[in-house]
Amino acid sequence: MKALGHIIAIVLWTLVSQVGGIVWLINYGYFRWPKRGVSRTRQFCVFLLLYFLVTFLVVPPLARLGGRVPLPITKSKNLRPHNYITPLLNRHYVRPQLRQQLIGIAQEINTHHPAHKVSYLDASFPFVDGFPLLPHLSHNDGRKVDLSFYYTKDKKKGNLKPARSGYGQFVEPKPTEFNQTADCLSRGYGPYAYTKYLTLGSRDDLEFDAASTKQLVNLIVQESLTQKLLIEPHLKHRLQLTHPKVRFQGCQAVRHDDHLHYQIVR
Ligand SMILES: [Zn+2]
Repeated sequence: MKALGHIIAIVLWTLVSQVGGIVWLINYGYFRWPKRGVSRTRQFCVFLLLYFLVTFLVVPPLARLGGRVPLPITKSKNLRPHNYITPLLNRHYVRPQLRQQLIGIAQEINTHHPAHKVSYLDASFPFVDGFPLLPHLSHNDGRKVDLSFYYTKDKKKGNLKPARSGYGQFVEPKPTEFNQTADCLSRGYGPYAYTKYLTLGSRDDLEFDAASTKQLVNLIVQESLTQKLLIEPHLKHRLQLTHPKVRFQGCQAVRHDDHLHYQIVR
């Protein structure tokens, strides 16, 4: 039973952070023998300490050898994580050219609107092409990153977001707009809207900032390395996004009226 608990912990830590499972194995392998008698709380504290040391000191240089780099992790930068959980779980790794492109776009956004930064959500794990960053099956090679929309509060621009996780608080279609979610659900794609359960807490006092979100999309699609940008059809229509790189992701994915999915060619 004890071994089963360790196996479950290793699998879960691997699924959410990629390297956490290995750190768990090293930590609990070390404490198993000959250091019996160390309390569980102490073992877990050492695990956390080891995990953060590995995450911030060991993983970045190793990932660089394999062609992936971390996105900036402080919220004071023009390109910043929406939630610190993303870098803490090693979910902010991309190819160097994508980071460079994102930093350039964020700089330009900030020049136009000093109150605005670019907030990223899930990108990829640091290692191994094909290793998916769940629940995103396609985020497996450092070429993809999810970005937040812009919102206003009392007409004021800023970086506030309606969902703590960055996912699941949707910009719903208006009655006159095509409802892609209803269409996908009616055709049996049940998981299409399941991100509504992943908000980690949400708020209703923000207004979708269509003009600023459109500006971000247009800066992205102008870049030659951009392969595609995914957004829900009613927002593509509402924002009048006509560039061929702006696309619908299909019903087999999840709805994209809470974030943008940005992906580069190589
Ligand atoms: Zn995505």
